[in-house]
Amino acid sequence: MGEQLIYLNGEFVRKEDAKVSIYDHGFLYGDGVFEGIRSYNGNVFRLEEHLERLYDSAKSVMLEIPHTFEEMTKLVVETLRRNELKDAYIRLIVSRGVGNLGIDPLTCSRPSVIVIAEALSLFPKSLYDNGIEIVSVATRRNRSDVLSPKVKSLNYMNNILVKIEANLAGVSEALMLNDQGYVAEGSADNIFIVRKNKILTPPGYVGALEGITRNAIMEVAAQKGYEVQEGVFTRHDVYVADEVFLTGTAAEVIAVIKVDGRVIGDGKPGPVTNDLLASFRELVQQDGVKVYDEHLNAV
Ligand code: PMP
Repeated sequence: MGEQLIYLNGEFVRKEDAKVSIYDHGFLYGDGVFEGIRSYNGNVFRLEEHLERLYDSAKSVMLEIPHTFEEMTKLVVETLRRNELKDAYIRLIVSRGVGNLGIDPLTCSRPSVIVIAEALSLFPKSLYDNGIEIVSVATRRNRSDVLSPKVKSLNYMNNILVKIEANLAGVSEALMLNDQGYVAEGSADNIFIVRKNKILTPPGYVGALEGITRNAIMEVAAQKGYEVQEGVFTRHDVYVADEVFLTGTAAEVIAVIKVDGRVIGDGKPGPVTNDLLASFRELVQQDGVKVYDEHLNAV
């Protein structure tokens, strides 16, 4: 593989040359939207759903993406192809673009569009084998009438504050509650609990991003005959769950074995979590937008 190429505003440029202005409102104000997507063995997993979420987020903040859905699909595929990547993490960014120092988006003439595709740096296997410990943090999920958590905006300060608290506590992820104390999600993952073979995850209105992995896991679990429900729950319900796991594009499915010092189940990744991770890993190999034919040419 040659040098990494990044799509930036109409052209593919080398990573060192992929620069945007400091007057871009994405930089000045976090004014923009993004997606984190993954390609498995040349299949982009649920690209359509990711693009739908991107376009919905953009619509919600009145940001007009200067490409059709089709063009965006092609850009993602083309970025992977140019970088000869099959297993990749893809970052799509659309910011408000270059404006003046004021916040007014009307000063921004054209959104910036960026597609980055990188070889995956997988989470260590030990995380999946052993599970992780999390703590609940003081930072609450921003209320949906302030900035809807369904908008995947470049404004991630809420999540970053959660991550800082997790770092300070010496753990890698955290449990974020909403303003009423109900469980919302992790800093960048959705949360599930399993109790008596019933699988529960908070609904969007509690303050979770509608994760693509979350939705895929709900489908897979239902197909496997598990009872799956959206439901509102508290920290107590997490503490007494048989299993707890997190889902996300990067994390896939990761077991949580301790929450606020309470050992979950027997302190090891549980059978439902392991079963769903295995099924998810099967699904991602089959499902998705194909990037290459057998000659590594775009399809
Ligand atoms: N919640 C938040 C806040 C996130 O940033 C992410 C990662 N995009 C998720 C949940 C998981 O979503 P997905 O499965 O679509 O990656």
